[in-house]
Amino acid sequence: MNDHSPSAARAATPDLRATVSRQFDLAAARIPSLKSGLIDFLRYPKRTISLCFPVEMNDGSVRTFHGYRVVHNTAKGPGKGGMRYHPDVTMDEVIALATLMTWKCALIDVPFGGAKGGVICDTKALDESELRRITRRFIHELGDNIGPYTDVPAPDMYTNEQTMAWVYDTYAQEHPGRNNLPVVTGKPIDMGGSLGRSDATGLGTCFAAERLVMLGGVPGLPSLQGARVAVQGFGNVANAGARSFQAAGARIVAVSDSQGGIYCEDGLDLDAVAAFKREHGTVVGLPNTQSLTNEDLLATDCDVLVPAAMAGQIHEGNADAIRARLVVEGANGPVTPAGDALLAARGVVVLPDILANAGGVCVSYYEWVQNNENEQWDLEDVNRKMKRKMERAVDTVLARQRRLDRSPDVAEANDLRMAAIVVAVERIADITLKRGIWP
Ligand code: NAD
Repeated sequence: MNDHSPSAARAATPDLRATVSRQFDLAAARIPSLKSGLIDFLRYPKRTISLCFPVEMNDGSVRTFHGYRVVHNTAKGPGKGGMRYHPDVTMDEVIALATLMTWKCALIDVPFGGAKGGVICDTKALDESELRRITRRFIHELGDNIGPYTDVPAPDMYTNEQTMAWVYDTYAQEHPGRNNLPVVTGKPIDMGGSLGRSDATGLGTCFAAERLVMLGGVPGLPSLQGARVAVQGFGNVANAGARSFQAAGARIVAVSDSQGGIYCEDGLDLDAVAAFKREHGTVVGLPNTQSLTNEDLLATDCDVLVPAAMAGQIHEGNADAIRARLVVEGANGPVTPAGDALLAARGVVVLPDILANAGGVCVSYYEWVQNNENEQWDLEDVNRKMKRKMERAVDTVLARQRRLDRSPDVAEANDLRMAAIVVAVERIADITLKRGIWP
């Protein structure tokens, strides 16, 4: 029997909120012009919603589910952020992820604020009709707290375009007679989804890494051509990320999922991995590969490591075992502050989540624009625009990092994460002051 209560979830979750809060403190300390009132305003979420709702299960029983939706900041525009279905979802985790979304939207420069949501549930133990009823009831309970110009959900862990179709349909049933398509992004293509959205986050991680490498941002790694890449996860971000790195000339030597990983020195055949996972529910056991634990995967001998599954994966207990020169954060919060410090001390470069995985929200923004205009753009246009935005963000962060490096009065490493958060916080602070504090 699965436990869907908040207390059961709390025990299992790494402290992402403490991580995000610590990162913000370090960045705020590097912006002398940031007044203390503004620091508090940027630290706390604007709105938190905690819901509990009943759902009838297929066996006729009724089960109570807990869900959250948080809007962290709306200085730049409506809230924007994914919906996560996972047994470990907590309010603190959702607040942390909403905060990261604020920084991410500011950094990639789309007119959204930060938001996030989640429902405590184990999708592997639920069937499609139960997931549909959970989604419909959750969206119904959120009511007008979401909307095309207030807060716009998207997919995240264990939600997908089918979930987004139910979100859209539920909202549209309750708001008839108008164009509701922009209420949610990550929809199926034939229901107003954008071409390129499903691969955007993974593809964006590769665009960002390529740019950083090309600018000489990773000592000892002159190109992705021939680079050995290990990817943690084989979900949406990891799969598209692995394919994009492979298309850029890299060799994918390892991937994993919640049951473990696989390794192949000559490079994995990603179609065969995907087919095997579809058939067996895991990548583990694919013929002609060596099985790994997830810890082994993180310590794989490789040039680039892409953690693209969960938060808190690289920490003080295993950061010294990482052998990659570059860590590209496909997931949100996969490296803890202690992990960051240990990696920085050994010269391992971390391309931080709010930069590395911003391609998803960037194309979500394009989907929202297309929905507002009743248009559909070509895939080439979507990817070209996203690539330009990713590259511009990498350039901005690298330039800001070089300026941070010249400040004499800071003790901790001025890594790319620090520079990225500083850029984002400066932008939000600037807009907040330009708009003026209400009233
Ligand atoms: P997903 O549900 O498609 O995939 C999750 C993957 O994580 C699966 O491969 C699963 O097997 C793996 N996994 C689960 N538990 C694991 C464990 N204990 N060890 C190793 N692997 C494990 O989710 P996704 O959309 O690919 O999201 C992955 C990460 O990327 C999350 O942190 C999410 O917040 C972040 N992200 C997603 C998007 C997006 O557009 N989907 C955008 C930005 C960031």
